[in-house]
Amino acid sequence: MFRPFAFLFCGALLLLAAKPLCAQGRLIDGARYHLGTEGFPEWQEFVGQKPHGRTLTIHFQAQRNATEHTLLLRQRDVKHGWQVHLNGRRLGNLVTQETPLVHALPVPPGVLQDGTNSLAILPPAAVDDIVVEEFRLVPTPLGETLSHATLELRVTELGTTVPLPCRLTIVDAAGGLAPLQPATTNQTELAARPGVLYSRDGSARVGLLPGNYTVFASRGFEYSVVTQGVSVALGQTQSLAFSLRRAVPTHGWIAADTHIHTLTRSRHGDATEDERMLTIAGEGIELAVATDHNHHADYTEAALRTRTSDRFTSVIGNEVTTKAGHFNAFPIHADSTAPDFTATNWSALLKGIRATPGVQVITLNHPRDLHSGFIPLGPANFNPVSGAALRGQDFSFDGLEVITSAAMQSDIRLLFQDWFALLNHGHRVTALAASDTHDVSRFILGQGRTYVKCADTNVAGINVTEACRSLREGRALVSFGLLANLLVNERFDVGDLALRGERGVTAVVTVLGPAWVQADRVELFANGLKVAEQKIISSAEVTKARVTFRLPALRHDAYLVAIASGPGVTAPFWETPRPYQPTSKVFTPRVLGATNPVWVDADGDGKFTAARSYAEQLVKRHGTVAAKLFPALANFDQAVAVQVASLCHAAGKDLRAIEFVHALRNAAPTVQRGWMTYAGTVP
Ligand SMILES: [Zn+2]
Ligand SMILES: [Zn+2]
Repeated sequence: MFRPFAFLFCGALLLLAAKPLCAQGRLIDGARYHLGTEGFPEWQEFVGQKPHGRTLTIHFQAQRNATEHTLLLRQRDVKHGWQVHLNGRRLGNLVTQETPLVHALPVPPGVLQDGTNSLAILPPAAVDDIVVEEFRLVPTPLGETLSHATLELRVTELGTTVPLPCRLTIVDAAGGLAPLQPATTNQTELAARPGVLYSRDGSARVGLLPGNYTVFASRGFEYSVVTQGVSVALGQTQSLAFSLRRAVPTHGWIAADTHIHTLTRSRHGDATEDERMLTIAGEGIELAVATDHNHHADYTEAALRTRTSDRFTSVIGNEVTTKAGHFNAFPIHADSTAPDFTATNWSALLKGIRATPGVQVITLNHPRDLHSGFIPLGPANFNPVSGAALRGQDFSFDGLEVITSAAMQSDIRLLFQDWFALLNHGHRVTALAASDTHDVSRFILGQGRTYVKCADTNVAGINVTEACRSLREGRALVSFGLLANLLVNERFDVGDLALRGERGVTAVVTVLGPAWVQADRVELFANGLKVAEQKIISSAEVTKARVTFRLPALRHDAYLVAIASGPGVTAPFWETPRPYQPTSKVFTPRVLGATNPVWVDADGDGKFTAARSYAEQLVKRHGTVAAKLFPALANFDQAVAVQVASLCHAAGKDLRAIEFVHALRNAAPTVQRGWMTYAGTVP
């Protein structure tokens, strides 16, 4: 949690005690309440704590209100729909957002009564631990309450007077997103949520409660962040100017978010199509793929309407949302019919999607999430060690979301293991990061993003065919707060087939990120197995590290992937989101940047041979005879041993039969590990 001015907050409270009727109102309850279901803590911090209950009722004295009043409360960790009732009348819901914030609700005339009043927070059906505190009543209408003080903000590109579309994040002295009232409700100019503004031209004028604030101006991963503290008193207007600098060099790479929704087309979340344009421009995304559920949304008109069309290229896509998984398809010709989403057979589905006019890329989305009782790469459908489809599914999609920032996994590495298994099984699938956001601020657009190798001199006119080709060829980098790139033997980039190096393999990993992100580790994987690792000293420099790994000559073809990672971001302008369907109560936020493979042709036959192909050749030559297979496997890595075990299992062999157990004793450690790891996945 971010609490820059916690010490000032106490001062503010003292001040309020002296002036009970000031613009921040009367404190009707100052206690902190943890609400949740006893025995079912959502997060580690709540383990062993007895919640106040699932419902909160506060009694306080008041007088009947002839005019609208304002209720203020502080909330955090709200994931589901909690209702707020006053004297039996519903005032609204808590804001569905986990970030700490101050919520402001209107109290209609006549809802307060003389004498004792009762305020209730009522729970959703789902388990959700939340904290609410600091309930205040202000005797002025909401609009007036939030106009007692004003901030005027202006953001430009450093060294110029050029206005910059951006995000402005405003937190109060206790670190909560502040309730705001923008001077305009025109969504082609400004998208506003508690504590957050996305401005088309970097300017904004907002009303808010008098107090001490921290304002962050940001523009996504590639830009610097400028932070300013400001104190604004009753009746005052304060003006702040910010200059942002493009900090991370990404020449030759375009920033793509291939998974974007709007409320307008998907009917859930909260971002209208106009607001969405401001978030795309404000987070510095250059290729924006509209992927509403079973709908071909075209952002062209909204981009023109919001005057953001010079900031990015939009692409019509579709999240083909089925009972058997969600697939993104793009680009799609305008006015074409959406593909059938009722099929559950992947061959039929993918065939239908491929046949949609224009489609060049199909991705499998959030593959470990449960939707409609189905997990695409769940244990019923997929062997995460061998990469085998357990129901004969068609795995011919081009890309796999290994990071979906609005739907994170508890284990940020889980989907990388799935992806490695797919590659070892012989599938050519590009790893992607995307946001899948439906909202303006609850989940931040472009937090997960993919850097795609593509001419980037005109971001408003990106060659979409070139970008799609690069995506299919794996010329793409997975970014979630860091950007990692890999150069093999001084000349082979991601997506390349690297020729064998006589003296081994030199892999240079470069890790980039803005000053506000840190990296602490770089790892190198060959065929999905970690072969090298280096700790990084934390740095505010843009180049976080440049690490050279020297590997001995590879004995057979293997693909190299680098992953850099570091501590998560806790500041509210880019807060690392919590997992969507957590499998653990422990949340350890991390940032990550990963490469796609450089394919090393170590056997020199001019093509890349996957672990599965080597395994097939070995089984063809030696059958499933352990005494012959295991010595031959000694020249291969663990990934090949896994595939051989899976082929033996498919041939009806009992992997724990005495023949294998005996032969395994004298086998190479890589063979033992590969065999046992795979054997652990079968009954
Ligand atoms: Zn989805
Ligand atoms: Zn989606």
